[in-house]
Amino acid sequence: MIKSDKILVVEDNEKNLYLIKFILQHAGLEVAEARSGEEAIIVAGREKPAMILMDMQLPGISGYKATELLKSDKELCEIPVVALTAYAMRGDKEKCFAAGCDEYLTKPIDPKTFSSTIAELLERVQKNGGKNG
Ligand code: MN
Repeated sequence: MIKSDKILVVEDNEKNLYLIKFILQHAGLEVAEARSGEEAIIVAGREKPAMILMDMQLPGISGYKATELLKSDKELCEIPVVALTAYAMRGDKEKCFAAGCDEYLTKPIDPKTFSSTIAELLERVQKNGGKNG
């Protein structure tokens, strides 16, 4: 089980990436970043984060595909993946879970509650391990 407090934020939108990093760092968490699905897999392997916040709408391979690849990797499958998606459409949540995501959050994020939401998720996943791992 991974015990670091490092969160990997995968987000191609610079404004969102900046905001999420800012909030998490102020909550005392270490943050690693990636701007594409391909980069997410490389950084996950290098940093072994406690959790991955995965934007699902990414250039190149999507967040869904990147999550599938992470979850099929023996070294990385235990890292919990939280889907971050702008789609609040029916079926989207199921699509995220089908790709292997452990949790699901919708964008835009609420800056007031985001860090406590993430802290709760981190505590939950560290207790249970990645359910798909
Ligand atoms: Mn995006």
